[in-house]
Amino acid sequence: MSDWMAVEANYYMHVVRRQPIVLVKGQGTTVWDETGKEYLDFTGGWAVNNIGHCHPAVVNAVTEQAQTLMQTSNAYYTIPQLKLAQLLVDNSCLDKVFFCNSGAEANEGAIKLARKYGRLHKNGAYEIITALNSFHGRTLAMIAATGQPQYQQNFQPLAPGFVNVPYNDIEAIKAATSDNTCAVMIEPVQGEGGVNVPTESYHKELRKWCDENEIVLIMDEVQTGMGRLGSLFGYEKFGIEPDIITLAKGLGNGVPIGAFMSKLKTSVFEPGDHGSTFGGNVLTCAAAHAAAQVIIEENISQQAQETGEYLAGVLDSLKLRHSNIREVRGMGLLRAIEFTDDLAPVVVAAANNEGVLLNAVRPNAVRIMPPLTITREEIDTGVARIEAALAKI
Ligand SMILES: *Cc1c(COP(=O)(O)O)cnc(C)c1O
Repeated sequence: MSDWMAVEANYYMHVVRRQPIVLVKGQGTTVWDETGKEYLDFTGGWAVNNIGHCHPAVVNAVTEQAQTLMQTSNAYYTIPQLKLAQLLVDNSCLDKVFFCNSGAEANEGAIKLARKYGRLHKNGAYEIITALNSFHGRTLAMIAATGQPQYQQNFQPLAPGFVNVPYNDIEAIKAATSDNTCAVMIEPVQGEGGVNVPTESYHKELRKWCDENEIVLIMDEVQTGMGRLGSLFGYEKFGIEPDIITLAKGLGNGVPIGAFMSKLKTSVFEPGDHGSTFGGNVLTCAAAHAAAQVIIEENISQQAQETGEYLAGVLDSLKLRHSNIREVRGMGLLRAIEFTDDLAPVVVAAANNEGVLLNAVRPNAVRIMPPLTITREEIDTGVARIEAALAKI
């Protein structure tokens, strides 16, 4: 293990403080390091492996496609891309889709689409309102969209045209709206910002405000999409229909793929407006189609809903036994434990030792985002390991 850590230290840009674990294998909810130690993956490959690590349907789709055709130009039709497009459109309130390679890139595309809509239909309105504590990705435009100063300050000047306002505060959005506003981009539930669930009426009021003022409502579903919140898409939980959504993390169940989807009204791109060499690639689309088919046909979203309730109950009783837990919160299988102090990094390290992978989403909070296929037994085991970790700090 120390060898790989030394290689990293010598060769890899130091952009993340890694845990001292070299992962070599995964199956379902379990991953193994190079010493053979086993962990329950409560990070789900970062909310990516929604149907578990190395799901056979995805492995088979990748294997078969890799032996057949891996890449063509988008100058030609390819079948996995179109099958995936059809599946996503048929199972959502959106009408058209574009595939790209990551969440940040999906959001960039969504912003371009909204700006073109503003240009065509709203006197050139270009401004995008986003939330503080949001996370929309690491590209230059997306750090301007992401309302977290620590991601922005070293990279000035920021891309213009983004306004960051408090989350879950409809009055703040109203106050920030001007003739220049073309869109609001918002997460159904904030993920990287600490698992922040808005009040029930927030998204409904936002939808109403956007309708009244001809503002495009973009939902960043990069983390909440594909079943995570207990419905296939997060917007369903809030009883509204956005104009545009973006997807990535759980879409490919481990292969890098992103997407943005739009209602017909806002689907204003024409040939030449947008593109991507790898976007809609046959290999990633074959994998994502296989994964999405499993999620839809096996109703994995409903499973996430039920298992999520179970996890919430187990965490509530954990809280009763530990006075240093201030709050447990979340929705579906996106949950957080908030502590009374900045304990998250030591809890994560101790939990790793006990055999469960966790994310310190805030200095005082850990996030749980396991595969949606996690069993109740795995939840019991994983939370028992977290409790053993808490006993040692
Ligand atoms: C992870 C994430 C992104 C960025 O996705 P990348 O694939 O890392 O570019 C954007 N939005 C949300 C809500 C995310 O959770």
